[in-house]
Amino acid sequence: MIKMTQAFQKVAAIRGMNDLLPGPSARWEQFEEIVRGWLRGYGYRNVRTPVLEHTRLFTRGIGEVTDIVEKEMYTFTDALNGESLTMRPEMTAGIVRASIEHNLLYDRPQRVYSIGPVFRHERPQRGRYRQFHQIDVEALGFAGPDVDAELIVMLARLWKLLGLTDVRLELNSLGQPAERAAHRAALIAHLEKHVDILDEDGKRRLYTNPLRVLDTKNPAMQEMADSAPRLFDFLGEESRAHFDGVCQRLTDAGIEYRLNPRLVRGLDYYNLTVFEWVTDRLGSQGTVCGGGRYDGLIELLGGKAAPAVGFAIGMERLLDLWEQSVQVDAPAECDVYVVHQGEDAQRLAARVGEDLRDAGLSVVVHAGAASFKSQFKRADASGARVAVILGADEVASQTASIKFLRADAQGDAAQQQVPLAGLADVLKNLKG
Ligand code: ATP
Ligand code: MG
Repeated sequence: MIKMTQAFQKVAAIRGMNDLLPGPSARWEQFEEIVRGWLRGYGYRNVRTPVLEHTRLFTRGIGEVTDIVEKEMYTFTDALNGESLTMRPEMTAGIVRASIEHNLLYDRPQRVYSIGPVFRHERPQRGRYRQFHQIDVEALGFAGPDVDAELIVMLARLWKLLGLTDVRLELNSLGQPAERAAHRAALIAHLEKHVDILDEDGKRRLYTNPLRVLDTKNPAMQEMADSAPRLFDFLGEESRAHFDGVCQRLTDAGIEYRLNPRLVRGLDYYNLTVFEWVTDRLGSQGTVCGGGRYDGLIELLGGKAAPAVGFAIGMERLLDLWEQSVQVDAPAECDVYVVHQGEDAQRLAARVGEDLRDAGLSVVVHAGAASFKSQFKRADASGARVAVILGADEVASQTASIKFLRADAQGDAAQQQVPLAGLADVLKNLKG
């Protein structure tokens, strides 16, 4: 038996997993509203898949020799049946699984998106958490290059909607499997020549995933990586044409880009177009969005072969950038704060609150009893534009006094008294 008097040791959140309290969370909601409107503008529809999936989905879908699968997944055994399960480290694999399972592409391609948490066991630091959130956008069943370009143009619009200017686009093409195989042979030969300077990851990946060796952040390997044969030079005519098609459309849309032949992305499944949007304003965690084409993934996961392209935005990083770049006002808790004095007035306040909500206003009725002074303090802190005041006089005359709380609203701060019957009409004009 646990003795009830025994002190309970406080529980803290898991390292790298953040709480979002009302202030910051209101900012997230504001942000998500912009994002959902933006997605609707391009005909994307929402999907929600489970946070937990069979581990096999990710080892197969993301690739065995990737940072994510090798060291970042939260994997555990289901004690009830011994199955290996994994907290999703990204959303594409789950969305593709769902689209296969429900035959989503049987009669037409699909534009879908999902917003939610993903989990990676990384070293926590600014812009790198163990639970973070992605806006994941997938165009399933489209061969491109028009859709590749549309996705990028779409992102440029989001930056504009958010008022961001310091994000730039890096672009590359990974070609097709046969082109990658030819390049891979040349690359392995190059890496073998420099085997003495490869770090542990580099040596391990030399034969399993040599392309990823070039994605190193190790300064000692930079020169070797810079002089390595470039995949871009191995692209055949069709791959080139696809890439040119994307570039042409970006130019049509007035979007600048930089060809980065070293851009390979962390996931195994990409082909042809890959891109990242990066900023210098977030320190070393500067990639806010990454994406590309993954024409082989649907078939790899057991579906009927179909092309696809998509991207994922890191929400924490994008919000960080947004707050740094743009003055965003914290939204008010409510439009109207109702203060009252005396039991009759308190009961009237509850009724007035409901009436005002009927009229579409957001209303906080002060809970409990307190002096007018302390109630007004709360009203002020709520961000409401107007306080409704109910006391014995108001109850007797079936009126309400209203007081504007914001300097910008209606100029004078004097109270005015209005009949209860007309209150909603007077206040409705305040909205917006
Ligand atoms: P990085 O090179 O920074 O590790 P990544 O290539 O692993 O990024 P993706 O798998 O492409 O990242 O995920 C898409 C986006 O999610 C990234 O561009 C980034 O904005 C964000 N992101 C990735 N890992 C984290 C993390 N641990 N914490 C917060 N955001 C992250
Ligand atoms: Mg990573």
